Amino acid sequence: MRTVPGPTHRVVVVGAGFAGLSAALHLAGRGREVIVVEREPWPGGRAGRRDIGGYRIDTGPTVITMPELIDEAFNAVGKSRDGRLELMPVEPAYRAMFADDASIDIHSDSDEMATAIREFAGPKEAAGYRSLRAWLDKLYRTEFEGFIAANFDSPISMLTPQLARLAGLGGFRKWETMVKRHISDPRLRRVFTFQSLYAGVAPQDALAVYAVIAYMDTISGVFFPRGGVRALPDALAAAAQEAGVDFRYGSTVTGLERTSDRITAVTTDAGDHIPCDAVVLTTELPGTYQLLGRRPRRLLPLRAAPSAVVLHAGCRAAAPTTPPSAHHTILFGSAWEETFTDIIRDGRLMQDPSLLVTRPTASDASLAPHGHDLLYVLAPAPNLTRGHVDWSSTSAPYAQSMLDIVAERLQSDLGDDVELLHVDTPADWAGQGMVAGTPFALAHTFAQTGPFRPANLIRGIANAVLAGSSTTPGVGVPTTLISGRLAADRITGVPSRSAINLDLKAGSP
Ligand SMILES: Cc1cc2nc3c(=O)[nH]c(=O)nc-3n(C[C@H](O)[C@H](O)[C@H](O)COP(=O)(O)OP(=O)(O)OC[C@H]3O[C@@H](n4cnc5c(N)ncnc54)[C@H](O)[C@@H]3O)c2cc1C
Repeated sequence: MRTVPGPTHRVVVVGAGFAGLSAALHLAGRGREVIVVEREPWPGGRAGRRDIGGYRIDTGPTVITMPELIDEAFNAVGKSRDGRLELMPVEPAYRAMFADDASIDIHSDSDEMATAIREFAGPKEAAGYRSLRAWLDKLYRTEFEGFIAANFDSPISMLTPQLARLAGLGGFRKWETMVKRHISDPRLRRVFTFQSLYAGVAPQDALAVYAVIAYMDTISGVFFPRGGVRALPDALAAAAQEAGVDFRYGSTVTGLERTSDRITAVTTDAGDHIPCDAVVLTTELPGTYQLLGRRPRRLLPLRAAPSAVVLHAGCRAAAPTTPPSAHHTILFGSAWEETFTDIIRDGRLMQDPSLLVTRPTASDASLAPHGHDLLYVLAPAPNLTRGHVDWSSTSAPYAQSMLDIVAERLQSDLGDDVELLHVDTPADWAGQGMVAGTPFALAHTFAQTGPFRPANLIRGIANAVLAGSSTTPGVGVPTTLISGRLAADRITGVPSRSAINLDLKAGSP
């Protein structure tokens, strides 16, 4: 594996999102002096926050999976999650509601899920679920260490026996095709393929290797941090700070000084000049190239993932007599397949919207004023490259139509007192500097996957390493945590397991 040559003692990390926090923790744990420069006043990046009228809103990710990767980040500096962060299991992980009004709860426990499927669609589908689960489990085990959590120097370095195993498992066939082998009910198939939206590709086009996202969502479990998602970056940043990482918040990196092929210092709009031996950039790709004074060397233009409209609303909590809605509910429209053609191919709003409705107050009532619920509603939407929506005039009526769907299908007593607290549209994501107005970075098409995704090392610059959702392995909280660790590996080399164990024994909880 290629690593940064020469001295690497002092490292500046640009950005305190999950990638930056993870890189900082792993580097600090390996004895590097780390300075994190973040333009916002707090950590988290896309895991953003807004406090409005007593509601504590998380504006970014809501589905937190793979807690072991969070643990790995704490462990990097010899600390643990205990006493710092409470991750509550979300049970059911999701409730899926279909256009025909049928619904099913998604459980990570295999027996509970098989029972739910048997009741929903009969014993044949329940048996199909068990074989699908076994396949997803094998896929995950084959892929994780060897591909997702590994650095590659070139496509050729991927040619390993594990690649043959992955191909044998059908990893390079289509996701939808592979799920169809086990599940015939089209509604149930959606439960194990809708996650392809997270990868920015329709299930019938996405490679089955991405079905690992379904593994993360439906098998490994979904969690919610007490205090809201923001509690997660706060806890990671606090652990990093205790381990000696120097955070400079409210400071934007405006330049990188270079001597020959090495970055020698980082400069900021606050007038800081921070000498360094290496730099980790977690900025969006165009910003990264601009800072590096580089142009991408690709023949084909990069394709951005679809975007989303996210609204936040407050309302009276449902009466105790009504069955409570789940923490996460997916409201599938009847025209689910067209959702992808609408937003990815045709660049228009979904004609028959499918929505993710999150009620964080289902797990932590303190996120809303007493007696109230907080709702987060996400509608997939075209990005600004594909779509031609005038968001300045569309935002308000579209948000209202999303609320109407929620009221009609989920929470009929979402009455007159519902308060629209905030809306983010693709135009707002673009205003925050996100390419093509999407918070989901580059789509995970074949040409933008694994060794074909923009690499984390930059040719001609010896000591700059990239991390975050635009580089490998890709978009999402688990993956960006991994990308931070991969960036640290590029700087220090991969520490031996025994060295990690020794460090952990020496560390405090
Ligand atoms: C609405 C929404 C819903 C999502 N849902 C989920 C979900 O449910 N589950 C999931 O796993 N993922 C989800 N994601 C994706 C996930 O949040 C992201 O992939 C991940 O947080 C990206 O982390 P990052 O560190 O790569 O980037 P960022 O979080 O963008 O971090 C980059 C940081 O760099 C800072 N920065 C940029 N330029 C500069 C500069 N010049 N100087 C200083 N600082 C700078 C930024 O302020 C930012 O803090 C969602 C995202 C959004 C927005």
